[in-house]
Amino acid sequence: MTKIVEWDDAYLKQCEANERRGAVEALTDADWLEARRQLFQELSDTYAGYASCPSAKCRRARRCVGDGPECCAQLQVGIPADVERDLCDEIYHEIQQHRRDAACSGDASR
Ligand SMILES: [Zn+2]
Repeated sequence: MTKIVEWDDAYLKQCEANERRGAVEALTDADWLEARRQLFQELSDTYAGYASCPSAKCRRARRCVGDGPECCAQLQVGIPADVERDLCDEIYHEIQQHRRDAACSGDASR
């Protein structure tokens, strides 16, 4: 007698794929936010937004150490939405490269 073991393999694989995609999406969402934060931190540093930032931490550090967009909010130096998107893209790209490099060098040392 042949023992037949069956399960819905496709379903399980689909679940795993969805889980993985969800994890990656959460990570990329966080990275986009981080990219935007970095962009505005740089803007804030360039235009000395920290000097008049509501956060005492920024004023003490003499650079933006908090939330970039918030630091820039009182600066009134707007950048066009498409420029903001391009710059965020660039920073996001760097973050991903760093992550990949870190992962690869981690593998090499093992
Ligand atoms: Zn600030």
